[in-house]
Amino acid sequence: MDKHEEGNAIPEALRKHLEQLGEQFAERLRRELPQLAEQAERLLEADETQRPCLLQAVREQLHRLAGSAGTFGFSQLGQQARELEQQSDLWLERQQQQRQALLELVTALRQLGSQPPSADAPGAQPGRASWVPRSESGTQRIYILESEVEVGESMRQTLDNFGYRAEHFDSIAGLDAALREQLPDALIIDVKLPGETCDGLEYAAALQQRLDEPLPLLVLTQHDNFATQLQAVRAGALGLFTKPVDIPQLESRLERCFAQQNGAPYRVLVVDDDQDLASRYSLVLRGAGMLVEVVRDPAQIFAHLQSFNPEVVLLDVNMPDCSGPELAQVIRCNDEWLRIPIIYLSAETDIAKQFNALIKAGDDFVTKPISDHALVTTVFSRAQRARLLSNALARDSLTGLLKHSDIKEQVALELERSLRSGQRASVVMLDIDHFKQVNDSHGHAAGDNVIRALANLLRQRLRRVDSLGRYGGEEFLAVLPDCVPEQAKLIVDEIRERFAELRFIAGGGEFSCTLSAGIAGTDVHHDAEQLRERADKALYAAKHGGRNQVRLAS
Ligand code: GH3
Ligand code: MG
Ligand code: MG
Repeated sequence: MDKHEEGNAIPEALRKHLEQLGEQFAERLRRELPQLAEQAERLLEADETQRPCLLQAVREQLHRLAGSAGTFGFSQLGQQARELEQQSDLWLERQQQQRQALLELVTALRQLGSQPPSADAPGAQPGRASWVPRSESGTQRIYILESEVEVGESMRQTLDNFGYRAEHFDSIAGLDAALREQLPDALIIDVKLPGETCDGLEYAAALQQRLDEPLPLLVLTQHDNFATQLQAVRAGALGLFTKPVDIPQLESRLERCFAQQNGAPYRVLVVDDDQDLASRYSLVLRGAGMLVEVVRDPAQIFAHLQSFNPEVVLLDVNMPDCSGPELAQVIRCNDEWLRIPIIYLSAETDIAKQFNALIKAGDDFVTKPISDHALVTTVFSRAQRARLLSNALARDSLTGLLKHSDIKEQVALELERSLRSGQRASVVMLDIDHFKQVNDSHGHAAGDNVIRALANLLRQRLRRVDSLGRYGGEEFLAVLPDCVPEQAKLIVDEIRERFAELRFIAGGGEFSCTLSAGIAGTDVHHDAEQLRERADKALYAAKHGGRNQVRLAS
């Protein structure tokens, strides 16, 4: 259960850091507030021509204060600043230069400037995030509730082959007992449960209610109609599969659920000229597991985009040299960065101005003061979507693996790294045996399923540090860093055996496939292309040696 309980506490180190930042901000207030009071006095003394200019400067300072104070836990002060900012606007816009209005404003400014900054009571501040839990990497545990024992067992076996730890239960009582011991990473439930008092969806819905956080759920059904789909979604289902279930396809869906949970941290670029705010945002986002870089000078934006390759840009609206919307337009002028979501961070509460900024460029608006929770959630959802899209664009659409040129590049990179570190890497070429016959006998769609299944199997079985690509039709190329060819052979041989055990369904019948592979290890005598060619030759030897085998390069 611990994965679900670690949830919402702010890590101690982060809390301390946030406190420190809050203290720094209080220090800044102690400096800035008296300055504001001084400026108010000058407003009174100034003549009519100087006044708008002076007031504009005061207004800008109030605007910044309104945006930042709440974020650091001085929400009352932030609120006051916001009201005074609006008063200043009124005065400026209507040129309502009555002495009475000015006097009121100045009195309020004096008050604001002379008060000691008082922070919100602990717990009242918006500075509490619900930290997005990240599941531990490692073997994922899957519970299957399927009353047909044969179906459930075969599903368990197949998922085990893919590298999951699957358990099958043929009754609710059995599953309930297991759930009390340990929660799984995902659940697969058949709608039809003869002999039980409720069906699978009713059970799933009730179960999800009992959990702190819903489990990823896949549903099996005999009848795939809209009513079932709707009921399944209401029970928290991420996928609905019609029986007889195409297990590799179901595995694909599982893989996608976990890829979203366990991927590398999201990269966020924060552009804000206010150093305190930028530090705070980055701390909060880092606390939620993201990688953050801060840019204070908008002119440096492209250097950071290039080197950091962010998935989301958080952009301050009011900056002295270049406004947020202007910078967003500059970014959008380049096709290369079109896919990156841009979120404005602004103290601007005027809806018309917000819309105006959005129409020019940018995707979203969050208004300062923003609670940590809202910041994390907004950035997280945008980043998640951006990554899904960018994967869909950059990766092979059938398998989600690297494309031909990218995996070749990876071979070159790993060769270089291996030569530097002195740790040998292995390059593997894999090819499905007699694949043309699969297409001829079972159709192209069935062939696609086999390719996808092998891709998923490889992804499951190889390590995170290994790179994997679809080299061509039914050919795959993998690089295993820090792994000598003999070791690689053991791994690939195991994958070969698992692959041969997979059962595919097409046109009511079942079939299986085998694969052959060739492996070459890095050395100082061969460049990347020669390395791949040696692996290819070994693959050729495996084919000639009767297929369904793995050969090392001679
Ligand atoms: P071998 O054991 O020697 O590798 O025989 P093979 O039949 O697997 O090899 P061959 O290279 O002759 O045939 C590969 C076939 O793979 C031909 C091509 O139509 C098919 N193919 C290539 N890409 C795809 C794809 O994306 N989907 C499907 N379904 N078939 C593909
Ligand atoms: Mg082949
Ligand atoms: Mg081939």
